[in-house]
Amino acid sequence: MINLSKIDCVGCTSCSSICPKNVILMKKDNEGFFSPVIVNEERCVQCGLCEKACPVLNNEPEKKNTDLGYIVQIRDEEIRKESASGGMFSAIAISVLREKGVVFGAAYTDSFEVKHIEIDSEKELWRLRNSKYVQSNIIGVFARVKELLNNNIKVCFSGTPCQIEGLKHFLLKEYDNLILVDVVCHGVSSPLIWEKYLETKKDIEKEKIYFRWKHYGYKYSTMSFFDKKGSEVYHSGVESDKMLRAYFSNSCDRKSCYNCVFKKRYRVSDFTIWDCFQPRFFNKSFDDDKGTSCALINSEKGKKYFDKIVSLDLIKYFQVPADDLTHANKEMVDSVKKSEIREELLQDARLLSGNELFEKYYPVNFLSKIKKIFRLILLRIGFYSTVKFLIYRKRRKKTIGKHNEK
Ligand SMILES: Cc1cc2nc3c(=O)[nH]c(=O)nc-3n(C[C@H](O)[C@H](O)[C@H](O)COP(=O)(O)OP(=O)(O)OC[C@H]3O[C@@H](n4cnc5c(N)ncnc54)[C@H](O)[C@@H]3O)c2cc1C
Repeated sequence: MINLSKIDCVGCTSCSSICPKNVILMKKDNEGFFSPVIVNEERCVQCGLCEKACPVLNNEPEKKNTDLGYIVQIRDEEIRKESASGGMFSAIAISVLREKGVVFGAAYTDSFEVKHIEIDSEKELWRLRNSKYVQSNIIGVFARVKELLNNNIKVCFSGTPCQIEGLKHFLLKEYDNLILVDVVCHGVSSPLIWEKYLETKKDIEKEKIYFRWKHYGYKYSTMSFFDKKGSEVYHSGVESDKMLRAYFSNSCDRKSCYNCVFKKRYRVSDFTIWDCFQPRFFNKSFDDDKGTSCALINSEKGKKYFDKIVSLDLIKYFQVPADDLTHANKEMVDSVKKSEIREELLQDARLLSGNELFEKYYPVNFLSKIKKIFRLILLRIGFYSTVKFLIYRKRRKKTIGKHNEK
């Protein structure tokens, strides 16, 4: 049986989903992440499937693939507005749904828990849109994907790289009717910290939450809440919103995120998608501050679906050499660095109320106020975009320099 203490578990559910005797269950650990727990060990028949299905134990070396690069904007402006970047995910999903397929992705439940769900109509697709920077609950999803695949239904599964590799190992074989989409992933936050944050916002009546709303444009997005009537009832930028501050200071990620073995340049998915904050580097006509996605096509199947998306006229796109797109994207290949306060924060999350917790670690202070004012002034005088561009250019030069040294 799998020795869970020996792996840096990513919580993909593969071992628990494959166990024929239900010996491995997914339970929340004391940091709020779902993790496998061995129960009723005496029922184990030593079949070894749990070890075979673990993507961490069986992490494979990267293999060069189709490797086509594009920048993309979905033509439907409403969809682009709701998407974290340029809506490439929705374009892929629509092409699958129009073939009577099923799409899996991260959504909110009524209480705003982040959970993978399955949808089969374009009407429901909005639920999967936009990034939720919290580890999604995928219990039971892999078995359902397999059931649909075995019934010859087309399935698009989208998620973090660890979920994609977990699913691939769980399935144990290739399926022609499966389309895999992974995001470039900074890391995933603890659902416990998310619960605590929601507690601090319980008095705001909200129907929808977006981690990445383009309130001030794509390059300065906000955490935003909307009420039943569609009015924005809360918004706050990355320097001020307490959940975004916790996330982007790498204080509440799953432990495995700090040494992520799925940070790969060449992925096993059919598509890899991420943000293209500086499209003007590649094609100025894309730089409208409304969102652009980068997309890598990693397989022949991905290529076929991309052609379908083009034939449906769903996107505006521009081909870019894949290496040009991936240069300067640290999150694609490097794990985030653990914050020094992580353990203390997660320990306190079990003891303190949401307000006490966020007040202790993320108080509204002089620095956060100044950062906000500075950003707003830059926006007002029209320099925000230029400053962001200069920062990106510097980062890009540095990464390319490092790459050439290798
Ligand atoms: C946790 C996370 C971290 C990310 N980190 C980076 C980064 O560091 N740099 C970067 O350039 N891009 C990052 N991205 C990708 C980026 O935010 C967009 O998802 C990407 O640009 C695609 O946007 P879109 O406009 O095509 O579609 P959108 O509609 O915004 O994409 C939605 C897609 O994201 C998936 N998704 C959303 N939340 C989760 C979740 N909690 N778990 C699993 N899947 C989820 C959905 O299933 C769907 O496939 C991250 C995304 C996520 C979810």
